[in-house]
Amino acid sequence: MSKMVKAAVLVEPGRIELQEFRMPELGKGAAIAKMVMSGVCGTDKHSYKGESVQNKGTKNEIRVPYPIIQGHENVLIIAEIDREGSLNLDYDGNILKPGDRVTMCPDVVCGKCWYCKNIPTYPWCEKMQFTYGNMRSCNEGNHLYGGFSEYIYIEPGTRLYKIPDGLPDKVAVLTEVICVAWTLDKAKEFNSFSLEGFNFNDTVVIQGVGPLGLAHVIKARMMGAGKIIVTDISDYRLKLAKEFGADIALNSKTTTEEERIELVMQETNGRGADLAVECVGSPSIVPEGLRMLRKAGMYLEPGNFVDTGGVTLNIHEICAKNLRIIGMCNHAHNAYLPCMEMMERSLDWFPWDKFVSHSYPLAQTEEAIKKSMAEDSMKVVVAANM
Ligand SMILES: [Zn+2]
Ligand SMILES: [Zn+2]
Repeated sequence: MSKMVKAAVLVEPGRIELQEFRMPELGKGAAIAKMVMSGVCGTDKHSYKGESVQNKGTKNEIRVPYPIIQGHENVLIIAEIDREGSLNLDYDGNILKPGDRVTMCPDVVCGKCWYCKNIPTYPWCEKMQFTYGNMRSCNEGNHLYGGFSEYIYIEPGTRLYKIPDGLPDKVAVLTEVICVAWTLDKAKEFNSFSLEGFNFNDTVVIQGVGPLGLAHVIKARMMGAGKIIVTDISDYRLKLAKEFGADIALNSKTTTEEERIELVMQETNGRGADLAVECVGSPSIVPEGLRMLRKAGMYLEPGNFVDTGGVTLNIHEICAKNLRIIGMCNHAHNAYLPCMEMMERSLDWFPWDKFVSHSYPLAQTEEAIKKSMAEDSMKVVVAANM
């Protein structure tokens, strides 16, 4: 194994440098993994732009600690692992060994706080240890805590998941974003009440079809959505969303808010959509989404993961329509394996190979992040062996 490791470091907002780090010594219960592919997430774009406040208003409110190696949507191959790590690091109980291909949950929780004890499947930890690619600076500890690097250091307590052999890297790298569409499983829980939440054949509006929105299109289709209506400002993304199962695509640049709401009404016998999902990451579109809903419709908010400010809402409209608004800042730990197995099962159902639109070598990480913000991209990845 080489002694020095190259990594792309976000030194400060808007500036990425390729730096070298000494390969860390393998510690007890830990592993070192070789990076195969790492997806650029919406969170990485926000941190790059300097929008760095996360979990605002909770006990684990943080500011991204620059300098940092980003990248938390990782496909990895175990390079070194000690005995304790091989027994404990896999969430599903597999014994890991060098050469195993794995993905990871980026959140490392304490396991002891009220949330860890009472809602253990959600990383809502109040004493969050750290998040790979997002919450630990490369000045700390074993430095290599992000996927935009040749190697990543895996600390004890991390949750790894063995990737099924039949799942290509380019699909496996989507696991975390597909997991975040667990929002729809949350909505499904409410259908035990009459026609609330997400029911079979429901009309689902997805605002924004970047990677997170596209993940919701796929998941909604898998889970029995009826009509899927998507909005975005990019024709490229709208076309792709249709290829993945959306029925109606509306460009927000060439239609007005009133026209879009009117169309949703027409498509739902004048009632409004059953479910709407905010996947733009901008508060300004929330009022439109709420207006698209029927009475007792549900609005899902997974998009504004970082603090993007506020918006004025007419609260009476929420009251008058009995709306339900569900926030979702993360995804379940136990969602990884089901998502990967369903992605493998559905390899022929969706044009998965089109989801990753661009791939860059490590040395071009900054270009990758910039490309991910362009209208003509979907999931952009940083990949080894380019
Ligand atoms: Zn992500
Ligand atoms: Zn905890």
